[in-house]
Amino acid sequence: MAINVRNSGEKINLEELLEYEVPLSDHTTIHTGGKADCAAHPSDFEELRSLLSYAEEQQMKVTVLGGGSNCLISDNGIEGLTIVTTHLTRLHISGELFCVRCGLSLDRAIDRSIEAGLSGLENLGGIPGTIGGAIFGNSGANNVQTSDLLYYVDYMTLDGKLHRMQTHADEFSYRKSPFSDHRDFIMYEAGFRLIPTIQTSDARLRKEEAKRKRKLDGQYDNPSLGCVFKNPPGHVAGKLIEECNLKGMQIGGAAISNRHGNIITNFNGKATSQNIFDLIAHIQAVVQKEQHITLEPEIQFIGRW
Ligand SMILES: Cc1cc2nc3c(=O)[nH]c(=O)nc-3n(C[C@H](O)[C@H](O)[C@H](O)COP(=O)(O)OP(=O)(O)OC[C@H]3O[C@@H](n4cnc5c(N)ncnc54)[C@H](O)[C@@H]3O)c2cc1C
Repeated sequence: MAINVRNSGEKINLEELLEYEVPLSDHTTIHTGGKADCAAHPSDFEELRSLLSYAEEQQMKVTVLGGGSNCLISDNGIEGLTIVTTHLTRLHISGELFCVRCGLSLDRAIDRSIEAGLSGLENLGGIPGTIGGAIFGNSGANNVQTSDLLYYVDYMTLDGKLHRMQTHADEFSYRKSPFSDHRDFIMYEAGFRLIPTIQTSDARLRKEEAKRKRKLDGQYDNPSLGCVFKNPPGHVAGKLIEECNLKGMQIGGAAISNRHGNIITNFNGKATSQNIFDLIAHIQAVVQKEQHITLEPEIQFIGRW
């Protein structure tokens, strides 16, 4: 049965879109966490708008999930509606403007930009996750931040209205964007002003090299969320953790990586999100006591914490 949706010219079959009691451990790269009360994977603008309209009518809390590579999802799940963006993947190119839906994986987007003779994003190669997640936390690597070439972001507010934010690099900082404090903004499309290049094979090599370095570092060996803490000004979080002799420490199935102090892994596939949460709290307490430095998590805590 099709449900009529308010403020929409079209009828979208929400019953086909909505799923209930959806296990989320496969929606995060660390493979922990409970269920979404209700989840949906919109694949276009109208579906997204209809879902928001439905959530507003039903007074459901809305949570957005991209690739789940920076989110620790509570074992008690996520209340309300979880919108998973990974089916929002279209892109179009106009000259040097590379316009991409926010659910496309960053890695795939880089490949597509190079195929189109555009460069600039290669150093971000191998970062898991989506364009939306990369903008939210201003992901960066190898001296490039997502904000460097970002030109605009189209986002929806919970009332289903679409807005355009013309972005400026100075509104972004280390792991922070104008979206970080707005969990009620759902990024739909982003435009990057890239650099035209005829040296596409060089760009491809740079991207593959960035990814290869991550593989060599063992970043993909065990499920993780990448770096757990931000680097405090003047310090490297992983080094502080290592200096406190915490590498290798375990709580349940969660362990501090032996290779990188700032990475927690689900080493035996049996960790709970609570194990990871407890390990994070322990690291913070020890580093505070021994080094007098407060470590701030880089990861997002999602759901019923
Ligand atoms: C092995 C590994 C290596 C990593 N290396 C790096 C690195 O080098 N540099 C780095 O910066 N990060 C790194 N990360 C962290 C992570 O991959 C990035 O932060 C990534 O950009 C997150 O994207 P995501 O789609 O997975 O976001 P998610 O984890 O799904 O979400 C993160 C936050 O963004 C919000 N969000 C996501 N999409 C949208 C949207 N469309 N609209 C509104 N809000 C949205 C979510 O609500 C959440 O609050 C690494 C992670 C792993 C597992």
